Amino acid sequence: MKTLILGGTREARELAHIASGERGFDIVSSLAGRVRDPLLPEGAVRIGGFGGAEGLRKWLAENEIAAIVDATHPFAGTISANAARAATDLGLPLLHVRRPGWSERSGDRWIRVPDLDAAAQAVSGAGDRVFLTIGRQGVAAFAGLTDQWFLIRAIDPPTGALPPRHELLLARGPFTPADELRLLERHRIDVLVTKDSGGDQTAAKLDAARAADLLVIVIDRPELPPGAVVGETVEEAWKWLRDIASGS
Ligand code: NAP
Repeated sequence: MKTLILGGTREARELAHIASGERGFDIVSSLAGRVRDPLLPEGAVRIGGFGGAEGLRKWLAENEIAAIVDATHPFAGTISANAARAATDLGLPLLHVRRPGWSERSGDRWIRVPDLDAAAQAVSGAGDRVFLTIGRQGVAAFAGLTDQWFLIRAIDPPTGALPPRHELLLARGPFTPADELRLLERHRIDVLVTKDSGGDQTAAKLDAARAADLLVIVIDRPELPPGAVVGETVEEAWKWLRDIASGS
């Protein structure tokens, strides 16, 4: 069964690893091409945008794709919506893999906000020294904040305008809670800003923030398209794919 995995996550790489070795599955993984040195999944890989929902629809038809797994990051809302549109047009089965979001634990001091602009508003007045861990996209939402100092961590340099007072830290997780705590202390951080990415790869900063009694601004995920079929784990996605392939 020719299957497209929309990737850029650990779940997508794990699913490609499992399915590529199985008879009856022909897997193509797709990456956006944003990261300079991406971790590549096993098997066939294509890189770069499709050209919107219409471009994706064309690509799916030309490549005779029979099923789609959207295993992109929970904040990659555009490609998930495009996949839903193209799958509906072509009558293709589509599963969105969404790891559960993070939940507040005892000792946490979190403020949940709906988007980046609301996060920037929440930062002003919350503290002087901000640890911004939202990836390389969206930092421009904080560019107008001139009173705060920012430690900006991303895998590759951020795009767009940056806040005037900042230090850039280029690094790829996972990180340990002890390392994260040292980082918070070294930079005398008052407030942490994060997306609700979920998973354990980047959760150490939340443990460190709890230990340091820091305020954490958590940006909520974009909604999935209405009627989306969702699995939380790679195991669920693999079962879904096998069920589709066997016609059950
Ligand atoms: P997005 O806003 O949902 O997508 C923007 C455009 O990028 C899409 O319209 C599509 O271009 C292209 N695109 C996105 N994912 C693609 C994929 N897997 N294969 C081919 N084209 C793709 O996505 P994003 O937030 O920029 O994220 C880009 C990629 O980075 C995703 O694959 C995601 O899994 C990964 N990632 C994102 C985050 C995050 O915080 N957003 C974090 C970690 C990893 P066209 O319209 O031209 O098809």
